[in-house]
Amino acid sequence: MHELSIAVSLIEAATEVAANQSGIVRAVHVRVGALSGVVAEALASAYTMARIGTPLEQAELVIEPVPVVVECRRCPAKRELLTFDALVCPICGNVEEVVRGRELEITAVEIEE
Ligand SMILES: [Zn+2]
Repeated sequence: MHELSIAVSLIEAATEVAANQSGIVRAVHVRVGALSGVVAEALASAYTMARIGTPLEQAELVIEPVPVVVECRRCPAKRELLTFDALVCPICGNVEEVVRGRELEITAVEIEE
């Protein structure tokens, strides 16, 4: 399962941060884009399983979903997409660059010293 290996990587990364600061992880904050290929609910349940027996057993996973945003130079504006069937500007249909929505990153690790 895709989300399980991601959960394991998040736990490893947060464990390393905590070890460097000689503290205990209270919470891990992650940003998950709608186009990242990761389902937030699946990641949350994978994390709940994966943290057992690790230093993060008591640490909460806080998922911040990120919507897909394209930047349209024709309109011009940044617009949030509600459907991702086509990555085009919802106003003019112009194919544009995705500026947000592919994120899969740790934004913060809360450590208790
Ligand atoms: Zn447009």
